[in-house]
Parts: sequence; structure tokens; C-alpha cells
Amino acid sequence: MTDTLTNPKLIQGRTGPWEIVMGLEIHAQVASKAKLFSGAAVGFGAGPNEQVSLVDAGFPGMLPTLNRYCVEQAVKTGLGLKAKINNRSQFDRKNYFYPDLPTGYQISQLYFPIVGEGVVEVEAEDGSFFNVGIERLHLEQDAGKLIHDLSPTESYVDLNRAGTALMEIVSKPDLRSPEEAVAYVKKIRTILIYLGTCDGDMEKGNLRADVNVSVRRPGEPFGTRCEIKNVNSFRFISQAIQYEARRQIEILEDGGSIIQETRLFDPVKGETRSMRSKEEANDYRYFPDPDLLPLELEQAWIDEIKASLPELPDEKRRRLMEQYGLSQYDAVVLISEQAKADYFEAAAKGRDAKLVANWVTNELSARLAADGKDFSESPVPAAHIAELVALIEDGTISSKIAKEVFDHVWNGEGSPAEVVEKHGLKQVTDTGAIEKAVDEIIAANPDKAAAVAEKPQAIGWFVGQVMKATGGKANPAAVNDILKAKLGL
Ligand code: ADP
Ligand code: MG
Repeated sequence: MTDTLTNPKLIQGRTGPWEIVMGLEIHAQVASKAKLFSGAAVGFGAGPNEQVSLVDAGFPGMLPTLNRYCVEQAVKTGLGLKAKINNRSQFDRKNYFYPDLPTGYQISQLYFPIVGEGVVEVEAEDGSFFNVGIERLHLEQDAGKLIHDLSPTESYVDLNRAGTALMEIVSKPDLRSPEEAVAYVKKIRTILIYLGTCDGDMEKGNLRADVNVSVRRPGEPFGTRCEIKNVNSFRFISQAIQYEARRQIEILEDGGSIIQETRLFDPVKGETRSMRSKEEANDYRYFPDPDLLPLELEQAWIDEIKASLPELPDEKRRRLMEQYGLSQYDAVVLISEQAKADYFEAAAKGRDAKLVANWVTNELSARLAADGKDFSESPVPAAHIAELVALIEDGTISSKIAKEVFDHVWNGEGSPAEVVEKHGLKQVTDTGAIEKAVDEIIAANPDKAAAVAEKPQAIGWFVGQVMKATGGKANPAAVNDILKAKLGL
């Protein structure tokens, strides 16, 4: 029990604590207009079999031609994962029969992947960081799609996806909790989006993960793993791991052993179930594709790609903290989306950066989320947030009134300065006007004024009354000063 208290990642079983061990294989569709080995278009929403070339359809004698752009995206991604780029890699055929695979094999890279070992820095929920090792990244083709629910008696084949380029990113078994696994996938997704090498759209299946799960007693060697195929949301990844770890712990505690197998996650039942065991696993009879030469990359080209990389999330986080004096928390929230970080920087120029960060990460984020909008689609331009913060900074409006101003700005009533003018929201710093309100309230409430002498904290009631009388526009500091003077505190 003490173990699970000191290490919250451990799971308490009937017979003692267990540790979950996970390694992920993430499949990311390369953001490319054409397929990996043919010129056929890649796109969502085309009619069935409209984006299929003879190569993708597996016609006899058709030769694959490697798409240079896809290779460049894989190299970029490898560099973004701080990984070794292999100057020489090789495409292999992975042979199996399935109706969505007309060639009878998938072209992949088993023995010599384009990208080798790397490392990804991931932020945990408590704000600490942990590293996840990358084993490799290889390029491969996706298969087509079978459609079983259009007819009660027939299945349909759509080959639009066949031959689309995928990057498979294989992690080392470095993950120890469902939260870590989810945080890792989120981080990979963010890096890919920054790089522009994959759009990260999990709903469309453009980013999906095979999750390998095993359990062990703390300190013991790794246990036998099961692989949960094709999990395509953060929530499902977490649910699948939790279910699978529990299932394995129960088997082991009952004296059984884990059979290495491939499993599927059923999101409706929240369970994983067996798809095929290792014994039934296909023998893919991998061999180098005779139609494709080994891929040799010139170092100069790799260096050129490296020089063209955008600023990546970790670097941006460090820079935002340094340049604007932001907390790690604010910086992490801002870099989670590139457009959000860009927006912040556009608004923060010459302003109180912490205040700008607050407006961007709280008020504006919440409004955009409620409308299902991205920062790039914000109806409030960055210049307006900058103006709003400037009005707070120079005392024209209070923070409280700023919320009201923001509402009007959000509704398209103009810039913050225009809204303040139009609705008369300027903070009252004119001490004469505040004094007048204070005098009136004290005169109308002599017993309360007398009571304040014994109970100084009762001044709060007076502050409230003055703010009410001035429509919330009185400068709170001025109100406090004047009240204290008039009440003899
Ligand atoms: P395969 O080709 O059989 O899928 P890989 O070497 O590609 O095997 O490993 C697949 C994934 O399984 C990797 O992400 C790796 O980190 C992970 N993995 C390996 N051993 C274990 C284990 N004992 N428990 C959990 N995950 C593991
Ligand atoms: Mg694998």
C-alpha cells in the first residue's frame, strides 16, 4: 500500500502493487497532396475509388515511384523528434492477403528505417517533465478501406486511402501510466502540427496509435505485452490502457500468464478483446522491394531541411518564459496550439505580458472553445486584446469592467476604446465624484459608519455600495482611500 502512496502511477492489486509498462506505435498520415508511390491525389471526401492510380490498384507491371515530398516530411519529423536520420534506408514488402490490399503486400521499412533513435520531452500533469525514447520512425503505405454497412449481403472496397503515406513512430517502452501515454501522444501530435508534416486529425484517423501494454511488479523485468490496435482518441487510449492493465493484473493474480496477442478496443463496452494471438500472427515474409532502390539521402539535403525547421514547441516554451517572463504553466498552455502562441505574441508587444497571457488563455480561449473556433479564426483580433490590456494598464478601466468591455468587443461592437467610449465605461478616478458618493452613503447609514470603528473589515460593505452607486466604474484604490479617510480608519 505504501508503494502506491509514494508512487501514484502504481496500481494496487489484490496481492500487492503493479506497474504498467507501455510503448506506442503512432501512425501519422503524411500531409501530402499525393500518395507515397503514385501521383494519385490524397484527400478526404472524394467519392469512392476516385483517387486510385494503377499502382495503388495493384495492376500487374506497375512500378512505384517514391514521392520526394513525403520523404522530406519524414526527415523533418525525425529532426523534430531529435532523432538520428539514416542516410541509407530500404523499403521492404510485408506480404499478406486482405481485400483492402490489392497488391498483396504493403511497402514498409522493417530492417532499415529512415529515422532511428530520438527523444521527446513530455510535460506531466503536475508540471514536471519526462523523456520518452523514440525507437524509430519509418515510412509505409496505408491500405484501402472495406465498407460492410452499406449492404446486408455485400462488402465494398474503397481504395482512395490505399498507398497514402504513413509515418510510423515507435516509442521505447518508457511510459508508466495512462496519463503519461496520453500526454505523450498529445506532445507528438503538437510537434507534427508545428512541423506541418501531419494534420493530427484523430477523428479522421489521420493520427492513431497501437498501444502496447504489459504489467509487472515494481523493479521486476518487463512482462509479456498485448498490443491494442488503432486507438484514435485520447480518451480511448486512456480507457483501453486502464481496462487492459486491470485484465492482465487479474490474470496474473489468479496464477495465470499473459499470452502475447493483438487486441481491439471496443469504445462502446470500454473493453479490449482478442483479435489474434502470436501463434496466429501472420508470417509476413518481409523482403526488400525489388522495384525500389535503397533510399540514399545526401547529408546536405538533410542539413537544408534542418535549417528550415520552424521553432518547435519546447523551444517556443522556453523562449516565451524567457522573453516575456511567463510562468511555465502559461507558456505550456500557450504553446499547445501554434496559433494561440502566435496570437499571444502579436498581442503582447509592449504590453504587460502576464495580463495578455491571462486574457488569451482564459477569457478568449473559453469563448473560442464554446464556439468551436481556433485562434486563427478569432473574431477578436490580437490588436484588440492589446488595446484592452493597455486600457487596464493606464487605469482607464478596471479589470472587472474589462470583462464587460470584452463582451461588447466579442459581439463585434468595435475596438475596446470605442466600446468604453460608447458605453461610458471609463473608470471614475475623479476623487470629487467618488467623495460625493461616499458622503451620501455614510450620511444614509450612520449606524453602519459607527460600527466600522470597532469592526474595520466592515468597510467592505461600504466599498460595495460605492461601486454600486458608480456603476462599478470607480477606481477601487481611490474608493478605499477615501472611505478610510472619511470613516476615520
Ligand atoms: P513488433 O514489431 O512486434 O510490434 P516492436 O519492437 O516494434 O515489436 O515493439 C512494438 C512496441 O512495443 C514498441 O513501442 C515497444 O516500446 C513496445 N514494447 C516492447 N516491449 C514491451 C513490453 N514488455 N511492454 C509494453 N510495451 C512494450
Ligand atoms: Mg510493431
